[in-house]
Amino acid sequence: SDHQLEYPVSPDDMDWQKLYPHFFDVGTNRMSKQVTIADIGCGFGGLLIDLSPEFPENLILGMEIRVQVTNYVEDRIIALRSNNAAINGYQNINVLRGNSMKFLPNFFHKAQLEKMFFCFPDPHFKQRKHKARIITNTLLSEYAYVLKEGGVVYTITDVLDLHEWMVKHLEEHPLFDRLSKDWEQSDKCVQIMTHATEEGKKVERKKGDKYVACFVRLPNPPIV
Ligand code: SAM
Repeated sequence: SDHQLEYPVSPDDMDWQKLYPHFFDVGTNRMSKQVTIADIGCGFGGLLIDLSPEFPENLILGMEIRVQVTNYVEDRIIALRSNNAAINGYQNINVLRGNSMKFLPNFFHKAQLEKMFFCFPDPHFKQRKHKARIITNTLLSEYAYVLKEGGVVYTITDVLDLHEWMVKHLEEHPLFDRLSKDWEQSDKCVQIMTHATEEGKKVERKKGDKYVACFVRLPNPPIV
């Protein structure tokens, strides 16, 4: 249950300095950067860690609902930062405990994000549990709100039924368009997310399939 979780009233009420101290500008007393990449349901943090050196100028945030898992990722990042202190490594990643299905606009401003990752989300197999899935029409409108035009939603799963569900909902949504297989092949994040996460590695060991679908955030239609 997440009823005792605390949420900021607005993104400006978040203590971002605590998560990314290296990107706090003492001169202006403000953060020099905002989070632009979000890993929704980040699990044990493998994706954050592999994305970190690829996007040194971006702040990357993992969101995870399980307490112990969040604590584990926090410890992992503390150790990585300390082992790579000479090069200020891993200062651009962190994790936040929270329910990504609630209050996302409390954490991110409109059009703030460039990329959102949904890697091996919980499948919720049973029909009556489908409403608990992390991709639904309502939630897609929230994701579209926090994503900027041209931003990308990345999805990957080993569950074909969930893949089809995510594709169907994203395709039906007026603010998302599917990116081509050629695009996927040339995008470095697709390569990274296919191999970086703990769940992805588990699927590899079991020789399971991995289904990828990426969608671009379209411009808002003109108001007439
Ligand atoms: N993305 C990771 C990977 O690929 O290894 C983890 C995949 S795991 C199957 C799904 C994760 O999503 C779990 O760690 C779970 O706790 C988290 N999760 C589920 N619902 C969530 C929610 N509403 N908000 C944040 N995290 C959530």
